Amino acid sequence: MPVEPGGTIGILGGGQLGRMTALAAANLGYRCHVFCHSADEPAAQIATRTTLAAFNDNDAVDAFAANIDVATLEFENIPIATLERIARHTPVRPSPAVQAVAQNRLREKSFANELGIATAPFRAVTGADELAAAIEEVGTPSVLKTVRFGYDGKGQVAIADGTDPVHAWSDSGASPETDGGILEGFVDFELEISVIVARSTNGDTAAFVPVENRHRNHILDETIVPAAIPDATAEAARDIAIRLCEGLGVIGLLAVEMFVTANGEVLVNEVAPRPHNSGHWSIDASRTSQYEQLVRAICGLPLGDPTRRCDAVMKNLVGDEVEAWRKAITDPSAHLHLYGKTETRAGRKMGHVTRLGKAFGG
Ligand code: AMP
Repeated sequence: MPVEPGGTIGILGGGQLGRMTALAAANLGYRCHVFCHSADEPAAQIATRTTLAAFNDNDAVDAFAANIDVATLEFENIPIATLERIARHTPVRPSPAVQAVAQNRLREKSFANELGIATAPFRAVTGADELAAAIEEVGTPSVLKTVRFGYDGKGQVAIADGTDPVHAWSDSGASPETDGGILEGFVDFELEISVIVARSTNGDTAAFVPVENRHRNHILDETIVPAAIPDATAEAARDIAIRLCEGLGVIGLLAVEMFVTANGEVLVNEVAPRPHNSGHWSIDASRTSQYEQLVRAICGLPLGDPTRRCDAVMKNLVGDEVEAWRKAITDPSAHLHLYGKTETRAGRKMGHVTRLGKAFGG
């Protein structure tokens, strides 16, 4: 049964991805009920209704679940127990089982490999001795990451020849709480790309064009639409993303981050079953945005057309860069999006600007 316009979408998490989902939902006549910590968060500011509580507050979770028609989430580390609790009352899309794979770097890479999809070589490590053995097997250079809770490069340690495994282990912050660590071979990539795929309740899929992601200080700086890669590589990347989306049984969105090497090999780095920073461009430059696509998918409506209307470059405004809004507001090719965050902090995503380029002839 579709959740028709007029229904209420529950969004777990109050960040900008939730804000932009709620805006798209409002355009289609839905209400959004946001579950987050504070009324000041970007999505809470514009929600129809909010529940301000911790994710382990069972009474609040039950009351939230009883007041929505479908739930989705806008950040990855919502406890699985919370999602499962909501799923007893109302559909959670993508499902808690999908989230459990995406929250765990070992599980997501293993899942890709089981589908015959390439990743960097990797080994699970639970202590300094195992790390020393894994470095022997995987070789250097390599990267040690926490299995859980890593984002924007946090909890990552570069491993080179002669790196002391004891120091590297303690620097990574890996612990039983993070389900240990994962050592990955370092990929000498030419560029980083992502593909966002939507999958609806009837199994239809629609993929956005592969885009290039450029990082600064481990934070996404710019997304270039489309990625400058050969058609065959773009096709391979789309195919990988669709296979992962179908294999996981996602209803909603799956963003797949990939490395492209100099010889055109495509390796999966990680998946995110939610709207993704690298899809912001689609608000201004696609026939259907990733946010509208998410709403359509989780509500059981037909998917929209993901074709881009024009080329685009999305620039994140991180920390003090938010001051660039003054210039962007005077630039006719720039679409400015500010997230309503009251406090500017280094490394904090405050807004973004999408500049539209050449019209796409397709
Ligand atoms: P992640 O948290 O896995 O998305 O990693 C953050 C960033 O670190 C990526 O976007 C890459 O730029 C870099 N990185 C992560 N893993 C690797 C790897 N195995 N080889 C090379 N660079 C990596």
